[in-house]
Amino acid sequence: MKQLQDLLNLSSKAAIVTGGAKGIGYGIAYRLAEAGANVLIADVDEATAQKTAEELSSKGWTVEAVKVDVSSEDDIKHMVGVCKDRFGSVDILVNNAGIYPPAPVAQMTEDQFEKVMHVNLRSVFLATKYAAEVMKRQGGGKIINITSIDALHPSMVGLAHYDASKHGEWGFTKNSALELAEHKIWVNAIAPGGIATPGVAAMSQGASAEQMAATTKAFMAKIPMHRMGEPDEIGAVALFLASDMSSYMTGEQIVVDGGALLS
Ligand code: NAD
Repeated sequence: MKQLQDLLNLSSKAAIVTGGAKGIGYGIAYRLAEAGANVLIADVDEATAQKTAEELSSKGWTVEAVKVDVSSEDDIKHMVGVCKDRFGSVDILVNNAGIYPPAPVAQMTEDQFEKVMHVNLRSVFLATKYAAEVMKRQGGGKIINITSIDALHPSMVGLAHYDASKHGEWGFTKNSALELAEHKIWVNAIAPGGIATPGVAAMSQGASAEQMAATTKAFMAKIPMHRMGEPDEIGAVALFLASDMSSYMTGEQIVVDGGALLS
């Protein structure tokens, strides 16, 4: 039986975290790097990705950044190539980059719908496709898809496109887990509830203080733990899924929501 520290040890593993510059992706990149993985932060926000990579590298960890728009197939291919070139392998892929711009269906444009689908769902297909090619040759790997509680149940009006993308991502997780198991590639998902991130903070921009207080009160009332989650609370679960702690798991989705789906 392995010792606990060995189960959690990711040294010599190479990990890609899309959208790892900030928010949940930052929380995931932090824990994977701390566990010894060489981490590639793949983010469209190049300046912040670089800053994050420098901050984590200053702790003695190996973290690099690359500019990637996950809605571009060329960028995804480049991302997988950079990870292989710089670190020698692609062992862990975390499909985290995602957007959630609210729009009621009645006002939603085709472009808005497609953008959410491309960033949140098509990207997961493309990154899985190109990373799995490398993982197959290596003899295995781990893919972690960051879905949402909205993959199971809507959290608010205005996210129909988002919920469609996240239900799709959960379906893609299960079917790709089935297909890739014979290559020892394990595919799982994490479904966060409300996590305090820059993306969530930006959603309330433009709202008055009264509107904000009312929205926050209504939101908290639905969370049995009565608080938002922190990015690190997703990072810890991602470490579990990336490590040998979860050696008998594939095609699963772990809900991390402070109990929100119970209410
Ligand atoms: P965030 O906006 O705080 O951070 C997202 C990161 O992704 C940013 O660094 C951004 O630059 C990057 N990004 C955005 N579009 C990109 C693109 N096209 N290509 C590459 N990088 C891109 O978001 P977050 O709240 O941390 O959300 C991260 C993931 O978690 C998303 O998939 C989101 O759907 C999911 N999620 C978040 C919450 C929450 O409450 N925060 C809840 C459920 C699920």
